[in-house]
Amino acid sequence: MTGNKSVLVIGGGVAGIQASLDLAEQDFKVYLVEKNSSIGGRMSQLDKTFPTNDCSICILAPKMLECFGHENITVLSYAELKEVSGEKGDFTVTVRKKPRYVDEEKCTGCSACEDACLLKDRFPDEFDMGLGKRGAAYLPFAQAVPRVAVIDEERCIFITKGKCGKAPACKEACERDAIDFEQKEEEIVLHVGAIIFATGLDAYEPYEIEEYGYGRIENVITGLQYERMINAGGPTGGHLVRLSSDGKPAKKLAFILCVGSRDLKKYPYCSSVCCMYATKSGMLAREHEEDMESFVFYTDLRAFGRGFQEYIERGTEEYGINYIRARPAKITANVDKSPVIWYEDTQSGELKRMEVDLVILATALVPSKGVEELAKVSGVELDEYGFFKVKDPLYAPVDTTREGIFVCGFAQSPKDISDSVAQASGAAGRAGEVISIALSSK
Ligand SMILES: Cc1cc2nc3c(=O)[nH]c(=O)nc-3n(C[C@H](O)[C@H](O)[C@H](O)COP(=O)(O)OP(=O)(O)OC[C@H]3O[C@@H](n4cnc5c(N)ncnc54)[C@H](O)[C@@H]3O)c2cc1C
Ligand code: SF4
Ligand code: SF4
Repeated sequence: MTGNKSVLVIGGGVAGIQASLDLAEQDFKVYLVEKNSSIGGRMSQLDKTFPTNDCSICILAPKMLECFGHENITVLSYAELKEVSGEKGDFTVTVRKKPRYVDEEKCTGCSACEDACLLKDRFPDEFDMGLGKRGAAYLPFAQAVPRVAVIDEERCIFITKGKCGKAPACKEACERDAIDFEQKEEEIVLHVGAIIFATGLDAYEPYEIEEYGYGRIENVITGLQYERMINAGGPTGGHLVRLSSDGKPAKKLAFILCVGSRDLKKYPYCSSVCCMYATKSGMLAREHEEDMESFVFYTDLRAFGRGFQEYIERGTEEYGINYIRARPAKITANVDKSPVIWYEDTQSGELKRMEVDLVILATALVPSKGVEELAKVSGVELDEYGFFKVKDPLYAPVDTTREGIFVCGFAQSPKDISDSVAQASGAAGRAGEVISIALSSK
């Protein structure tokens, strides 16, 4: 229980981290609630970031650590917001902290439990977008903050069946005695003056666009899977390979943009970052291997930010990326499992086919799963696409429809990292202002 010079930030991606740090530096107390077992959000999964092509985690990891270590910030990971009552300047919130079955104070992140788990490498790893494997006891990823193991309660056989070998191997392996199968869900009640939503994005999984074969044709993947594949710490050690059983190096890549985005039957809006990240991905491929070829199938290129058009020009001139204006009709697979793209080149009007090693679908980016529930418990409105609605897009672009509750980053609308960070600072500023006014009127 604290005074009201406190702010609740929901979502520990780059936007939530920035908002928390800004507020903490101005001496506000911040509670940062993250539903996953580590903060970092999508940026922690990216290999490099446009427009600078800097290493994503190298920029983010120091911020994650600064946030976690800040004396004015309490990170509540593996937690979600359950209830909100009160009004601006004086909210009471209840946060539900899920059991991770590992004592956060004792765990050093040594990974001995992960190595010892009887079910090691049995399940798809969410961080690697299903391309890697993890056990029932695992560390979320190498740079996780907090670097604390978690036990998957739906998969651990000791939790689901009451028995794992003679004694749980994870527990035996832990020299710190950190594994605690008695851990229970906790409810934490906090008093805060303002709330910021920074719940970010999920990527649409295009199984229902059957003509593109995702989930059926092995060498068809998504943009986030590509980010993990090209990352040196990822499931293929940074090698671009075909996922069919031949496992050969992938030399010819096709990126298909607007998969599910700008589609009246699915997500009519633009996902905002795909034209740029496809260009980045083609550049990175060429940096890995000189003979790599990339083809970007686009609807129209939306290079709207500062230096973005020049970035695309560099993609063409320095990295040999080929841009083709077409929305492919279908993807089939050859006998050797190479994807074949069938399309109409809308500039020449010709019907064409192209065989490649790997197709990367830049799928629609959508609000994070669970925002409807969050909107319901906090009494704020969502817009027609499920992003948090703002009071006035021109004059109150970070104020939600409930006073004292703000929004930033992808949770408000599709945007890249620098725009998410800028908006996060805006939301932090507004949260601080509302609290200061409320305190001065007491
Ligand atoms: C394939 C791909 C490549 C990209 N490449 C680039 C690039 O090169 N450069 C660039 O500028 N941008 C890039 N982006 C966009 C970039 O990822 C986003 O701009 C950025 O991640 C937005 O940050 P955020 O904090 O708003 O959201 P996120 O990064 O999504 O973080 C949101 C956080 O909130 C948490 N959360 C969600 N719901 C809840 C809840 N109910 N309770 C608690 N916590 C919750 C999530 O677990 C997550 O940690 C790329 C995106 C994709 C998909
Ligand atoms: S729970 Fe124990 S074994 Fe597992 S990472 Fe933590 S300290 Fe290491
Ligand atoms: S109890 Fe068994 S299955 Fe569960 S995490 Fe430990 S070793 Fe793995």
